[in-house]
Amino acid sequence: MEKKAFVTREQVEEIVKTYPTPFHIYDEKGIRENAQALKEAFSWNPGYKEFFAVKATPNPFLMKILHEYGCGSDCSSLTELMLADACGIRGEEIMFSSNDTPREDFELAAKLGATINLDDFTHIDYLEKIVGKLPELLSLRYNPGGVFKISNSIMDNPGDAKYGLTHEQLLEGYRIMKEKGVKRFGMHAFLASNTVTNDYYPTLARELFTVAVEIKEKLGISLSFINLSGGIGIPYRPEQEPNDIRVIGEKVHEVYDEVLVPAGLGDVAIYTELGRFMMGPYGMLVTKVIHEKHTHKEYIGCDACAVNLMRPAMYGAYHHITVLGKENAPCDHTYDVTGSLCENNDKFAIDRKLPEIEIGDYLAIHDTGAHGFSMGYNYNGKLKSAELLLKTDGSVELIRRAQTPADYFATFDCFPEYAGLLK
Ligand SMILES: *Cc1c(COP(=O)(O)O)cnc(C)c1O
Repeated sequence: MEKKAFVTREQVEEIVKTYPTPFHIYDEKGIRENAQALKEAFSWNPGYKEFFAVKATPNPFLMKILHEYGCGSDCSSLTELMLADACGIRGEEIMFSSNDTPREDFELAAKLGATINLDDFTHIDYLEKIVGKLPELLSLRYNPGGVFKISNSIMDNPGDAKYGLTHEQLLEGYRIMKEKGVKRFGMHAFLASNTVTNDYYPTLARELFTVAVEIKEKLGISLSFINLSGGIGIPYRPEQEPNDIRVIGEKVHEVYDEVLVPAGLGDVAIYTELGRFMMGPYGMLVTKVIHEKHTHKEYIGCDACAVNLMRPAMYGAYHHITVLGKENAPCDHTYDVTGSLCENNDKFAIDRKLPEIEIGDYLAIHDTGAHGFSMGYNYNGKLKSAELLLKTDGSVELIRRAQTPADYFATFDCFPEYAGLLK
């Protein structure tokens, strides 16, 4: 699929008069259309709900847009819970899927009435000690181990993943929870990440639905919901075929009718916890070229760095790059596109074929809407960028300002001798 930037060079030249580069910009129209398509794809299931994985893009303006389409929040930490609360997303609109969970996180989750999804067998007792009595609704995260395959190809390696309970622990966990007075039960599993195939959810659903039937037969527990979690991917590369959420929804429906309905489990709600799929393609990192360097290779140096987008440095991830205003120029130059960190992995692209780039050009780095800004850090004292929203009417709104040096030094506020840094 051809990858097109959702802003033009002219638009960016206008935007930078108010908000200098680098910045992440999000496309409200794309976000809304996609959220609507997801909702429709699962409308066959009356209890269906998406819990947006807040860690992907923890911005209240974006969380509230998704909330209009019925999306709750999937939180995994204290501050993510605080953010959901501040957005008016509370109670069972919050899924709390955490791991290695600190006490105060469970306390706040329980106080907000979030649905708590336990990552470990020992957390049943841990939670009970913290909150006194287990909540009426509780979920367990399942990890079947081994490798996760679709047909014959290995998608991911749950056996190596730190998450979830084994099959045996899962059944024992539900039995104990029932004994301790839990009334409604959920099951969750996240077995493969960034899948670009319409078969991930249906394959996962079959595995989980089969276990749900077993739980009913062995323990007399009918699950209230099954959470297929995240993992629906996006085509980062132009040659990849995007997922078709309508097909995915329909295939999950078929498995539902085949496995759950005959077992008397026809009212199980299907939940999803998507992050990347909801936001990834609708964000871009816009950066300005400030240097060219000709040594053993051809380098393009820009004003963003891995602090603004960590995925290429961390995973060697591909992010498509458009040189704005040169969309139709031939890609007859080969560049490494770099940031300014003192780390040689601070490269947004290596040996990338691009049009001839000049100092002052703007680069749109695609698909940064999820796990982009949010993974940022402050290495080399680099500051996090602003986040902007391109609204449906074409106007641009600041939805998070850029960090300033004062933000970077803020945690020295207990030392009067450094007060001057805080201004
Ligand atoms: C990260 C995460 C998600 C979202 O994953 P995506 O790949 O962004 O869809 C959902 N649930 C949990 C528990 C996660 O950790």
